[in-house]
Amino acid sequence: MPQQPLAQVPADARWNWQEDAACQGMDSSIFFHPQNERGSARSKRDRAAKLVCAQCPVRLECADYAIRAREPYGVWGGLTEEDREHIYLRIDARHHPRRKGDGLRIAGSDIDRAISGNALGITA
Ligand code: SF4
Repeated sequence: MPQQPLAQVPADARWNWQEDAACQGMDSSIFFHPQNERGSARSKRDRAAKLVCAQCPVRLECADYAIRAREPYGVWGGLTEEDREHIYLRIDARHHPRRKGDGLRIAGSDIDRAISGNALGITA
């Protein structure tokens, strides 16, 4: 469920794409860290989530939704909370993406980079 006022959630967030999600049935603790988790434990958890997202057929829909909804917690579409914060810092709040696909348009390279070999700790 969205974790912010519903008025801020994009109107098209019907979640149909979640039916094909690679994370269906998985323990949510893979994607949502405990409060105050930091350091290597947090990095390990984020990497495990990104590895699942990297294989997910609806990763782009998920990332687009999370950016537009300003999901505050968890890994969505391979984007961690910190990945999304970096994106928001670049966006003028008056022009925050609202329409479906706008998140991909403003942050396509960030979304790609979030599951790159470098981000996943995989060296060629
Ligand atoms: S991209 Fe990741 S969080 Fe989003 S639906 Fe797919 S597996 Fe789940």
